Amino acid sequence: METLTPIKSGNYIDGQLVKENFETLDVLSPSTGEVISSVYLSDASAVDKAVQTAKEAFVEWSSRTLKERIQIFFKFRALLEKHKEELTHLVYLENGKIHSEAAAEVAKGIELCEFACSLPQIVNDEIQEVSKGVECRTSHVPLGVVASITPFNFPHMVPLWSIPNAIALGNCMILKPSEMTPLSAVRIAELLEEAGLPKGVINIVNGGKDAVEAICDHPDIKAVSFVGSTKVAKLVYIRASASLKRCAALGGAKNHLIVLEDAHVDMAATNIAASMSGCAGQRCMAASAMVGVGKIDHIVERLCEEARKIVPGDNLGAVITAAAKERIERYITEAEAAGAKVLVDGRNATVKGKEGGFYVAPTVIDNVTPDMKIAKEEVFGPVLAIIRAETVDEAIAIENSSNYGNAASVFTQSGGLARYIMDRVSAGMTGVNIGVPVPREPFSFGGWNESRFGSHDITGRSSIAFWTRLKKTTTKWNPEARTNWMS
Ligand code: NAD
Repeated sequence: METLTPIKSGNYIDGQLVKENFETLDVLSPSTGEVISSVYLSDASAVDKAVQTAKEAFVEWSSRTLKERIQIFFKFRALLEKHKEELTHLVYLENGKIHSEAAAEVAKGIELCEFACSLPQIVNDEIQEVSKGVECRTSHVPLGVVASITPFNFPHMVPLWSIPNAIALGNCMILKPSEMTPLSAVRIAELLEEAGLPKGVINIVNGGKDAVEAICDHPDIKAVSFVGSTKVAKLVYIRASASLKRCAALGGAKNHLIVLEDAHVDMAATNIAASMSGCAGQRCMAASAMVGVGKIDHIVERLCEEARKIVPGDNLGAVITAAAKERIERYITEAEAAGAKVLVDGRNATVKGKEGGFYVAPTVIDNVTPDMKIAKEEVFGPVLAIIRAETVDEAIAIENSSNYGNAASVFTQSGGLARYIMDRVSAGMTGVNIGVPVPREPFSFGGWNESRFGSHDITGRSSIAFWTRLKKTTTKWNPEARTNWMS
């Protein structure tokens, strides 16, 4: 499919793209470096306009039953399916992923939508006769206007982590996508409207820090979900909580894979190479540090073979910006200077015909020590740091010393050791012989420690508690019912 330039972008309020007078920022294609669109850097006035629109829409939308509301998501699901090539291409254009990864992102969006369609089967309200003739029942009530702030790395999927569940549960939403990847969001909103979503139920406000701060401060926004770096997640969590909002803020990651001597060599090598390099390493679930226990040289050798098969522009996409490329390469250079050994070097990668694109090839670095910057910080590129450990307990201690806690995996053929390690790692999502241990629906997604602030996950079953509040209603209809303290 040809690049369509410039691609539609803008704030989407009350069912339409609106013209604003804010400053704009160029949106670049990471694959080529070309300008493909532009985005508004909105201020608090745009957030307020979107909130007022959403508040009006909430009155009618929240009066529908859950079963009525999800009918729109059945239609939306069909539209995602119908437009999947176009949506895949949009992800490629704004994010730089290869086609198969962009297609997988769109497929995951469909799965998220299917989960929302199943909510009537999952939302369990209780009813009980609490004393003779007196019943108490709970109901899940929407919060009102809610907001979702999303990062650049999954411009289609992460908005769909929150939109279907939050809206199906009766809320109206303000979405603030990453200013680097604002294009998929508009198409999602248009398709929702085509599916029958009333105007004003979903609104998009583009921008950066100012728009985010206005969302955190707005008195009529009741809940905020945030996905992005730990630095910003912390700021958003503190600011939104200070204005008494419910907030779940998912942050960055430094995921450890513990590899034991008895690991299945092919399975470990292929899964780890795919985990560290998939989506150019720009996944919060990517393998970032591999802790090898004992004699694992044979696995490292196979892993390097696999890493060399992954070629930018062919089966590896671009990183998001020139600045990201520079940052990632600086981590590699600093690790080398600190004494680590670069086994596979992805610096200075270019793609013929796409010389303006931002590429880093897979990089494997051995002899990393736990005190090095590359062992502790999130690199967010296709880079694997290998740390050697003598014992399983030493490997667990290295994993436990991380401030993050999104994912951790073990590669071994021993069930007992796998269980021992999984019970002791400090991460919210763990895996055995899995490079990217994403819990699929209906399980919820969310890490621990500085990888998530707030008490809820925003997807899967946990999302029900996050996007609703419980009302407890006590009822008595029979005047003859025995009188007691509840009468
Ligand atoms: P980011 O934190 O820079 O941006 C995320 C959002 O915050 C964007 O919408 C952006 O406009 C806004 N923002 C940026 N700086 C801000 C500031 N100073 N004040 C207020 N708002 C600000 O993250 P990113 O670079 O877009 O995404 C990559 C990060 O997201 C990585 O750290 C990655 O691990 C993380 N991530 C985490 C998860 C998860 O589930 N834990 C999922 C995806 C991405």
